[in-house]
Amino acid sequence: TYKPVNMLVTGGAGFIGCNYVRYMLASDPDVRIVNLDLLTYAGSLINLKDLADESRHDFVQGDICDRELVDKLLRDYKIDTIVHFAAESHVDNSISGPEVFVKTNVMGTFTLLDAARNYWQKEKKWGKGECRFHHISTDEVYGTLEVDDPAFSETTPYAPNSPYSASKAGSDHLVRAYFHTYGLPVTTTNCSNNYGPFQHSEKLIPTIIRNCVNGTPIPVYGDGSNIRDWLYVEDHCSGIDAVIRKGQLGEVYNIGGINEWKNIDICRLICQLMDRHAPENAPHEKLITFVKDRPGHDWRYAINAEKMRSDLEWTPSETFETGIRKTVSWYYHD
Ligand code: NAD
Repeated sequence: TYKPVNMLVTGGAGFIGCNYVRYMLASDPDVRIVNLDLLTYAGSLINLKDLADESRHDFVQGDICDRELVDKLLRDYKIDTIVHFAAESHVDNSISGPEVFVKTNVMGTFTLLDAARNYWQKEKKWGKGECRFHHISTDEVYGTLEVDDPAFSETTPYAPNSPYSASKAGSDHLVRAYFHTYGLPVTTTNCSNNYGPFQHSEKLIPTIIRNCVNGTPIPVYGDGSNIRDWLYVEDHCSGIDAVIRKGQLGEVYNIGGINEWKNIDICRLICQLMDRHAPENAPHEKLITFVKDRPGHDWRYAINAEKMRSDLEWTPSETFETGIRKTVSWYYHD
C-alpha cells in the first residue's frame, strides 16, 4: 500500500476539500498538508478556522493555474501526493458564466499535472512508487440516465451535458493522458452528489435547510422528480483515502452512496426533520415551491460503486437518513 506524507491538497477551503483535510489530519499522524485555494466565492477560511493552530496544515491562497506558485509549493514542501479538489463546481453558474469553468477545471488541472510531471521526474520519484496524483471528479461526466438504466460504472462512455460536466470531463481526460503518455502515477474518482458539514449555501441541501430556518419558499426544479445518488462527505473522504493507499495506478473508481433519491423526497425528509428542530414553523413542507426547470437538467444520476467494494473493500457507512440527520444537527450545533 502507498503512504502519503507531504500532501498538496487543492481546493481545501471548499466543501469537500475542508472535510478531507480534517479527515486526513485526524486519521494519519504522519501526514502534513499544504492547502492551496484561491478563496473564490465558494471557499472560505471559516471552513478551516478550527485548524488555525494545527502545525501539520499550512494554508496558501493562490490559483492552481499559477504555474510558478505550484512549482514552488511542490519544491518547498517536497510534495509526494497531490489531491486535487479545486474546481468551479456549481452547474447553474456554469450555465450563466462557463469561461471560468474551462479555465480552472481544464487549465488548472493541466497546470497541476504538468508541474507534478516536471517535479517528480526530476526527483526520479515516480518509478519507485513514491508519489501519487489523485483527481476528484464527478458522475456528471457520464451524462444522464433513464429510470430503468443501469447505474454508471467506470466503463460508461462520457457524455457530459453542462459546461460544468464538460470541463470536468476535459480534466479527467488530461489526467488519463498524463498516465498513458508520461506514466504519471494517477488515480481518479468520480462520485455522486455530496452533502454534509460546510457545504456552500448555494447547493440543494443547504438551500432547503436555510429556507426552512427562514420560513422562505424552498425552490424545487421542475416537478422534483429528478433523481440523484447522495454520498455523505465523510464517506467520500474515506473512499478517496482508500483509492490513494490501495488503488491501482491509472484506474478510475466510482464512489457512490448507494442512496438514490428524488429531489422532492429529499425536500420532504428534510422538512420533516426541521419540523422537529423548529416546531414553531411546522409543517415546513408548505414552503416547497416548484420553479422552472434548469436548462439541460439531467434526469437521473446513479453510481455503481461495486469496484470500490470488491477491489478496495470500501462501502459507505451512512445511509441518507443517518447522514442527513448528522448534517441538520451540524447546522444547529456549530
Ligand atoms: P466547492 O465549490 O465547495 O469548493 C471548490 C474550492 O476550490 C473552493 O474553495 C474554491 O475557492 C477553490 N478554487 C476554485 N477555483 C480555484 C482556483 N483556480 N485555484 C485554486 N482554488 C480554486 O466544491 P466542492 O463541492 O467541495 O467540490 C470539490 C471537488 O469535488 C470538485 O472538483 C468537484 O467537481 C468535485 N465533486 C463535487 C461533488 C459535490 O457534490 N459537491 C460531487 C462530485 C464531485
